[in-house]
This record gives sequence, structure tokens and C-alpha cells, in this order.
Amino acid sequence: MHKKLGVLGGGQLGLMMISPCIDLGVEVYFLDPNPECSVQPFTSKLTVGDFNDYETVLAFGRTVDVITVEIEHVNVEALEQLEKEGKEVNPSSKLLRIIQDKGLQKQFYVDAGIVSPAFKLIESVKEITEFPIVQKMRTGGYDGQGVQILRSESDLNKAFDVPSVLEALVDLEMEIGIMVARNAKGDVQVFPPVSMDFDPELNLVKYVVSPAAIAEELSNKCIQLAQSVAEKFELVGIMAVELFITKKGEVLVNECAPRVHNSGHLTIEGTSISQFEMHIRAVLGLPLPEVHLLDPSVMVNLVGEPKHTGIAQLTNIDEVLAEPGIFLHWYGKTQTRPGRKMAHVTVVRSTIEEAKQVADEVLEKLQVISD
Ligand code: ADP
Repeated sequence: MHKKLGVLGGGQLGLMMISPCIDLGVEVYFLDPNPECSVQPFTSKLTVGDFNDYETVLAFGRTVDVITVEIEHVNVEALEQLEKEGKEVNPSSKLLRIIQDKGLQKQFYVDAGIVSPAFKLIESVKEITEFPIVQKMRTGGYDGQGVQILRSESDLNKAFDVPSVLEALVDLEMEIGIMVARNAKGDVQVFPPVSMDFDPELNLVKYVVSPAAIAEELSNKCIQLAQSVAEKFELVGIMAVELFITKKGEVLVNECAPRVHNSGHLTIEGTSISQFEMHIRAVLGLPLPEVHLLDPSVMVNLVGEPKHTGIAQLTNIDEVLAEPGIFLHWYGKTQTRPGRKMAHVTVVRSTIEEAKQVADEVLEKLQVISD
């Protein structure tokens, strides 16, 4: 592969792109502000610099042929300039600009005829008069931060006083994730839908489950929707399409992330090609093979334990790794903090129930603590 690939971001998502780059013979370069980011121990091609800085992104982009991202919050003006200079930027600066602002993203869905929860845009907290409502900061939110439900007027004191999307609160039956890949020729491949299953006690997403336990008809509907979203965005690369299934059985698009994604990690072991290889192929214009399911799988995130800050270590690692069908992916971060995503584990079994049970045992045994 003669093209040089540049990735904005060198965290765990970038780290997991290295393996398919090795297999496909792709020369891959990274830009990340953190000199100790996840990719650092595994590459000599890390530039330490801010992917939000115009000059830094421009200079980095000029040294490669194709630019991609592992995070959507990057300097789009520099990417626009690189496109003008003839560089391939996949996904495009235009798509990233829409995704970076939840307000523009919601408006895009309306214009493209994609069904998403009803919304309005506000500038400040004074405009919040109806309850219950979901408030989402237009920019700057991350991993559920910057999103909150305001149940009544008494919640107004915790409302964000910034430009936001106010969204109708949806009666959720299920949350589905679908990875969809598209290359510049317009070839599209969709991965099997996964579900984000909640912990009934904590009411937090705990497992990513493949395949999602939904009827074939609903699954096909989700797949067609993901394909049409990728086409309407003119995506080149991979995208996570997050869907809501309502109690009435409607399918709504919640949001999209035009990059490899946590909900696609179990494709490494659970499907015939991983999201990471599919992404690399899509951005470089290589063929995209059809995806099929291998075995039921369940993915859980390993996050830093409460009260542990410092050099990270994992408990009971020998015991867990002795069992077959348990796949640890350590993200190469030396320092742990409470709640920091440090690794994930995918459990492959013959049934989802069994995989979930083993995943629970893994979560009990494998804990990220500090020295
Ligand atoms: P982020 O971009 O930070 O991941 P999301 O928009 O995906 O934020 O919202 C985080 C979570 O909040 C969703 O996974 C879902 O559980 C809940 N949520 C978001 N929007 C709604 C909504 N309109 N109705 C009900 N729940 C919602």
C-alpha cells in the first residue's frame, strides 16, 4: 500500500487501527497532544501536537496522502484547506462540521428526511419552559456528559446555560448501534446491529451485545436506515449510527459518530471483519467485503475503579486469561483515574446469556486499580 495514512488522534481507537494497518501494509501516522497516548509505545510515527490547532493539523496533513480521524472534535478549517490542496480527508470536513454541532446534526436529519426525536434549538436556559425534556449541549459534550434529562422546573438549576438542543424525551425500549462503512466509490457494508443493554440496578449501559435480540424485520429496518444515513452523509470511512427503538416500535436516529466506535469493538472477534480493518479499507478506497456474524459476543468496558488514581494495574489477570473465549484489549494508558476507560473485554460464547454471565464474572475479577 503506497499511500500514507494520517490519523488525527492517537488514543485507543487509533491504537486498534494499527493491527489492520500492519496486515494491509499501510504506513500510518498519528497526531495527538499527549506524548503518552495509547499509540505511543507502538509507533515511531507519532507527532505530538494539538489536533484542534489549525497550523498543527495543516502541517501534519501535508506529510500524508489520506487523513482520517479517531475523534470528531478536530480542526475542520485545516481539513478544508487540506482538501483544497488535494488531500483526501475521510470522513470529509463537511461531514465533521455537521457532526461537531448537535444542532447542525439534528437539522441535517430533518433536511435528509431521517427520523430523529423532535427538537428545538435554544441559546440559553431562559428558553426552557417545557418538561420533561432532554437537553444536549450543541458542542463540547462527550460520552453522555453534556446530556441531561430535565424532568421538571425544579431541575432548571442544573440546566446548561449554553446553546443547546432540546429534545423530546423518548420512551425507550432499546438502544441499538450499527456500524456502517462506505468507500468513495459508494460501496456500502453494514455490520449486524448490536444492542446497548442496561444494567437493571444502575440503569447505565453495561454490555454491548451482538447480535441484538430483535426480530429480523426490525433488524433489516435498522440496517436499511444505517445504509441510507451513510449515503445521505456521503460518508467515506466508517460510522456508528446510534438508534432508539421506542416502546411503540418506532426506529429513530439518536446520533452518529463518523469513526470507529465503542459499540463496534466486538467486531474484532464477533464478526468476519473488524470495524478497524473496514475503516482503513474504506478511507483508502479498498474493497469492502460483506460482513457476517461469527458467534454471539458481549463487550464490557473496563474503567478505573473509584478511589484509584496512579499507575494502572489489573487484578486477577492470570485467572481470567486462562479461560477460552475471553479477549482483553488493554488501551496502553499508564495512568488510571476513577471512571477512565482503560480497556475492554469481549466474551465470545454460544449464547448471549452465557456470554453476559461470563462478562459479569470478568467485571468482578478484572479491576483497574492503582499501585
Ligand atoms: P452522547 O453524545 O454524549 O453519547 P447521546 O445523545 O447519545 O449523548 O445521549 C446519551 C444517552 O442519553 C443516550 O444513550 C440515551 O440513553 C439518553 N438519551 C439521549 N437522548 C434521549 C432522548 N431524546 N430520550 C430519551 N433518552 C435519551
